Amino acid sequence: QVPLKPGRSLMDWIRLTKSGKDLTGLKGRLIEVTEEELAKHNKKEDCWICIRGFVYNVTPYMEYHPGGEDELMKAAGTDGTDLFDQVHRWVNYESMLKECLVGRMAVKPIAAPKEISSTLSEEKKQLNGVLPEKKVLGASVKDITPSYDWFQTDSLITIVIYTKQKDMNAELVTVDCQDKQLRGEIIVDDHSYLVEVDLGHAVQEDLAVNIAEKVGKVEIILKKKDNIHWKMLGRPLGSHNTFIKRTDRGLFYRKCKLVSKTEVTHDTKLFCLMLPKSTHLQIPTGQHVYLKQIIAGTEVVKPYTPVLPFLPLDFKEPSRSAGAHIYLMIKIYSCGLFTQALDHLQIGDYISVSNPEGNFKKSQVQTLEDLFLLAAGTGFTPMVKLLNFALTEISCLRTVKLIFFNKTEDDILWRNQLEQLALKDERFEVQFILSQPTKDWVGKQGKISSSLLSEFVKRSTKDSKVLICICGPTPFTEQGVQYLKDLGYSQEEIHAFTA
Ligand code: FAD
Ligand code: NAD
Repeated sequence: QVPLKPGRSLMDWIRLTKSGKDLTGLKGRLIEVTEEELAKHNKKEDCWICIRGFVYNVTPYMEYHPGGEDELMKAAGTDGTDLFDQVHRWVNYESMLKECLVGRMAVKPIAAPKEISSTLSEEKKQLNGVLPEKKVLGASVKDITPSYDWFQTDSLITIVIYTKQKDMNAELVTVDCQDKQLRGEIIVDDHSYLVEVDLGHAVQEDLAVNIAEKVGKVEIILKKKDNIHWKMLGRPLGSHNTFIKRTDRGLFYRKCKLVSKTEVTHDTKLFCLMLPKSTHLQIPTGQHVYLKQIIAGTEVVKPYTPVLPFLPLDFKEPSRSAGAHIYLMIKIYSCGLFTQALDHLQIGDYISVSNPEGNFKKSQVQTLEDLFLLAAGTGFTPMVKLLNFALTEISCLRTVKLIFFNKTEDDILWRNQLEQLALKDERFEVQFILSQPTKDWVGKQGKISSSLLSEFVKRSTKDSKVLICICGPTPFTEQGVQYLKDLGYSQEEIHAFTA
């Protein structure tokens, strides 16, 4: 991120795109762009970039780009899709850059999709979810490629996905069914398998997902609306039956209802969102989701990390949050574009929520003895589920220490709950450190520093297995990681939460 000049915020950009100004230089015309043509537009004052087959004139956007002009120029006159995906796959550039659209790259035609029929045919291989040869990337991928099949009773349709994974679990499966469009995504390591079908007939709103964890079989069970015999499951949609890298799969959103909004501190609220009945979605510990809202006619997307409704003292996640609800602890900034719009949502309003993402793996915690959590401000959010998971599931765990950095006492999130937890569980300890305390604060003060860290981050025994998780404003996280490395902690012993 680079500091932007005054008048170059996202809101300013949205205003410019609405001003009616010709941002492409083509007076609203869309053209077909060849590679040779694209390559000619490679200067700051004439810069075209191709993202996923669409070409944008990004020259007017240069000064508004949060990553800076140099970052954009890396892709000048070329296909910037990979570069874009590495940095901010989740940013909705289609909406953000729609006024900069020059046109499409010349593309090859795509074969029309075929119906998925339950009768035997030459397409049998495809029916049963075995990828046709051309989509298989290589022998090793073929070995692990999931497949699917389906069957029916009078009242039910069951889609069975054979993941070939021994440790399949509910967090790796996301299913949505809206307006007869079924989408089931299964995460297999860093790959994603997708079943995406326009169903042949209507189904009821609620669906069920059964997982046979040991054999890696996933069943999606749909209830027929009418008890008729289905001749086919439906029509495959664009990415049906594909197995690709997880990061190459576009984000999918479903609309969730805001059911409650409660104050946590003077500027932070706990939002409770309800998933549709026709969605199966569980957000793994350490992962975040993206929220999407239309602000001044432009789709804006920001990441947030789900928490629990409260810190459970007896470590049993309340059933209310077991799937149907997502809790988000969000700080409302007085000039924040997204959080201001969020704060204006009324109970009963809807907001789009994406599938989960993130590179934290529970296996990082599995054999831990000491866990240190360094959180600043809302950087506390990923620590909530992590704390709960570590204290509940990790039997070898000896200590969990949360070192929580805030500006003032009033900013401390869930202070009471944290103090109660520390009293209840002797493995857990919390330390609050304030950067702008009032004069009656008797606790620690300051910002993250090498001396603070060497005072608070200590192994319980000389070679105990340790993990230090860190999350907060980018400079906080970057400085923290550097201090920890200087103190001798290895890369594997540090996890930084970032986008
Ligand atoms: P913005 O409009 O982006 O601005 C926020 C504030 O910063 C404003 O006061 C603005 O004036 C100021 N500001 C903006 N740009 C600059 C600049 N360049 N220099 C100085 N000041 C600036 N937040 C949560 O509250 N809860 C979460 O659970 C959470 N999870 C996250 C997970 C991830 C993976 C990441 C990356 C971020 C997470 N965030 C979380 C932060 C969240 O995504 C947003 O960044 C935040 O809500 C602010 O959005 P906004 O549009 O309201 O603010
Ligand atoms: P804040 O401004 O209230 O600051 C909280 C504390 O952070 C300060 O008291 C200070 O100790 C430290 N801090 C702030 N700026 C610092 C700097 N420049 N250098 C060193 N230390 C600094 O914090 P906030 O407004 O609650 O912001 C929380 C941040 O955490 C946001 O930037 C948000 O994007 C980020 N966040 C990231 C994730 C994630 O990546 N997974 C999740 C949640 C929040």
